[in-house]
Amino acid sequence: MNAVAELQAIAGAKTVLGPDEAFTERHLRDFNIVAPESARPVAIAYPASTEEVSKILAYCNAHDITVVPQGGLTGMCGGAVPFRPALLMSMERMRTVEAVDADGATMTVQAGVTLDTVQKTADANNMLFPLDLGGRHAHIGGNASTNAGGNRVLRYGMMRDLILGVEAVLMDGTVISSMNRMIKNNTGYDLKHLFVGSEGTLGVITRLVLRLHPKPLSVSTALCALDSYDSAVKLLRHVKPRLGGQLSAFEVMWPEFYYTGTAALNRRPPMEPKPETGIYVLMEAMGGDPERDAEHFASVMELALEQGIVLDAVIAQSAKEARDLWSIRDCPGEFPAAGHFPQLGFDVSIPTGQIGEFAKQVHERLAAHWPKHKALYFGHIADGNLHVSIRLDENSGTEHEMDEVLYALVGEWKGSVSAEHGIGVHKRPYLHYSRSPAELALMRSIKSAMDPKGLLNPGKVI
Ligand SMILES: Cc1cc2nc3c(=O)[nH]c(=O)nc-3n(C[C@H](O)[C@H](O)[C@H](O)COP(=O)(O)OP(=O)(O)OC[C@H]3O[C@@H](n4cnc5c(N)ncnc54)[C@H](O)[C@@H]3O)c2cc1C
Repeated sequence: MNAVAELQAIAGAKTVLGPDEAFTERHLRDFNIVAPESARPVAIAYPASTEEVSKILAYCNAHDITVVPQGGLTGMCGGAVPFRPALLMSMERMRTVEAVDADGATMTVQAGVTLDTVQKTADANNMLFPLDLGGRHAHIGGNASTNAGGNRVLRYGMMRDLILGVEAVLMDGTVISSMNRMIKNNTGYDLKHLFVGSEGTLGVITRLVLRLHPKPLSVSTALCALDSYDSAVKLLRHVKPRLGGQLSAFEVMWPEFYYTGTAALNRRPPMEPKPETGIYVLMEAMGGDPERDAEHFASVMELALEQGIVLDAVIAQSAKEARDLWSIRDCPGEFPAAGHFPQLGFDVSIPTGQIGEFAKQVHERLAAHWPKHKALYFGHIADGNLHVSIRLDENSGTEHEMDEVLYALVGEWKGSVSAEHGIGVHKRPYLHYSRSPAELALMRSIKSAMDPKGLLNPGKVI
């Protein structure tokens, strides 16, 4: 019997498909990266339970078959993309919401449940699952494996902060069930953290206990024009204490990005661009008292205007107006329609107070090599996260050349080459700019202790 037939005998004919039956393009790419021709899959597995995951991994381990875990394939760094013949383990049949505990504010789910379903289930139970990002058909297991971030990290933390328990299967088939449901639990090493953010290199996540929050009853949204990045930092320091922890988003956009998200996409700018505007901030606060929260938010904004921190501001008067303001910030998905395509995206971290200077230096460094290059700058600056999108055209360098320039600069600033998208294959050559040799050696030791044959998602992260 060949491997596919043996795996079908172990896990079921519907659970494991041979490459000829199951071969679909969608398993051979994530949002950015396409598998090479040489990476034709050995098989595609669609397990429906932890037990099936365990049996398949144990077989692959015994027969030296490489395994690549796959979630919703919205990743940006190629972590779920095969680069050699492998069994692709898609988690899309593990999509059961097992329980919602309103008293403990938790939700227990299988790893293949989509982020969208988790958000809607929390909402239907009058609670909030605050992780939010553009790729909502991502799996919650994929969100955990990449330690996803998004727009509300400032208030609720990253995915790591929204997980209480994890169940994962090691490459040899061992099930590690750490399905803790309590906030306090100091019983030795917190093993869930090994699987969160390790991008499917240490185990396959099968189930999770998620942490829920109270559903907000009010949302206030404003778009502000300011003279400079330093004023954006001043505004952040102005609103944080005054909004008393209600601040849920603080998104910064440089003028070229604002132009792209408005005029270039035939959207009427809520504020006409003026020469004195050096930066735009989209701000959101969530609270529990609709009438008072809106008034208080407006008074905090008024004070910022009076004190000259803000040049101009628009406060959304309806949910539709708020969505319109967000559509400017969410425009990266529409870059092709705005002519900003193909593009090379960067997702890096630098301490909040230094991002303005850093962005200037990025511009200078890139301009020294490619004077006519076009780049857009934006970011979740309260989390220290800057995104840079460079249009790949005759005025830019190759992807590799620009990666080299930008990541070396991140290294000089002691920043992080990946703020929220992970390392995958794409950023692996640059990991050393953000991690010391001792840290890298410890990561390799952990990897070889948990997957001695190096069969689980090889060539990713470390
Ligand atoms: C339009 C758009 C906007 C985005 N915005 C953001 C953003 O604001 N912030 C952000 O952080 N990300 C963002 N992303 C990136 C992406 O959505 C996240 O990285 C997401 O968490 C990936 O989840 P996924 O299920 O699609 O994983 P995949 O792409 O399928 O896989 C990602 C990695 O996780 C591993 N993996 C997946 N499932 C499992 C599992 N069950 N067990 C073990 N390993 C697994 C894979 O092997 C791979 O290494 C965006 C993507 C898109 C398309």
